[in-house]
Amino acid sequence: MKKRLFTPGPTPVPENVMLRMAAPIIHHRNPEFMEILTRVHEDLKYLFRTTQPVVVLSCSGTGGMEATISSLFKQGDKVITVNAGKFGERWGELVRIFTGNCVEEKVAWGSAIQPERLAELLKEHPDAKGVCLTHSETSTGTAADIQTLSALIREHSDALVVVDGITAVGAHEFHFDDWGVDICITGSQKGLMMPPGLALIAVSERAQDIIKGQSMRQYYLSLKHALKAHAGDDTPFTPAVSLVIGLDEALQMIKTEGIENIWKRHESLANACREGCNALGMKLFSNSPSFAVTPVWLPEGVKWSAFNKALKNSNGITVAAGQDDYKDKIFRISHLGFYDELDMLTVIGGIERALKEINFPFEIGAGVSAVQKAFLGN
Ligand SMILES: *Cc1c(COP(=O)(O)O)cnc(C)c1O
Repeated sequence: MKKRLFTPGPTPVPENVMLRMAAPIIHHRNPEFMEILTRVHEDLKYLFRTTQPVVVLSCSGTGGMEATISSLFKQGDKVITVNAGKFGERWGELVRIFTGNCVEEKVAWGSAIQPERLAELLKEHPDAKGVCLTHSETSTGTAADIQTLSALIREHSDALVVVDGITAVGAHEFHFDDWGVDICITGSQKGLMMPPGLALIAVSERAQDIIKGQSMRQYYLSLKHALKAHAGDDTPFTPAVSLVIGLDEALQMIKTEGIENIWKRHESLANACREGCNALGMKLFSNSPSFAVTPVWLPEGVKWSAFNKALKNSNGITVAAGQDDYKDKIFRISHLGFYDELDMLTVIGGIERALKEINFPFEIGAGVSAVQKAFLGN
């Protein structure tokens, strides 16, 4: 059966990227690889909209988050973290380990932090050294307004603006330099159309200065090491050579399509996916929906296990389950990375077939028709 992956990481990998990675391995100190890494460093600046360095770490996104917190802050530093889901919660867990001084703001799942609330927090905690945000909270499919939040932080404090952009980079409009962000992280298996294994981290001048001044409490996941090597278009340790080569190919595809077009495509796919779900009588979960992933309430009477089995076993479709309190209550459809309009017809069509198989009542074709109309007009 043909496998159809609709999860917000890993995401599908285009054939040309797979083929580039299948070539015989080369040594990371030979000129051929150095040329590729130099180009990757340059093209990552295009992706993040920055003139600052974007380092490539050989680890998943969480490794990038850990490298950030451990390299940027020292024991005792007060850091505000926003927990509006599983990944915002992770910021708090990391800060508690590495500084022991976390001000965690909990936000209801499915909502994003309001700027007024963040302004209050900044006034209450003028000594905060950083604020950790999540641009697209993958567990809840919810997007935060990073442009406004970052401007607010800059206005009210000297705290560093730290952004988990892991499912936002490539899906949502983002301007690292213009929005005054200090750190933004993404992971290869999300919007970059790559297998898992790389974390990409953009670092502002202000953050670089702070990192240089910190005494090192880590060896491998160190932004200090990574930035030093980056200055010579190098990496401190053996990089994941094949993945860097694949990333080179993926970034060429991104440049060819154009970043603005990619943002627009994600918005349009997300919109069509939402229309399709609405037309099937399924309620959407988020009140500030991400363009990367659409979270949907399971309809009354539909069991996740039966629905997921019908999707997977009869249609080859993998979507993501809900997490924590929303396990068995919501599911999440990804449209992040290598997806097009026909993929949205496929996933909504597959959901119709699964609903039919488990005898859930709906009008056959209603979802697919809504997706067509979203793209083609009435
Ligand atoms: C996937 C994800 C992570 C974690 O990345 P891993 O690659 O699984 O370590 C962190 N934040 C967000 C928003 C994510 O979507």
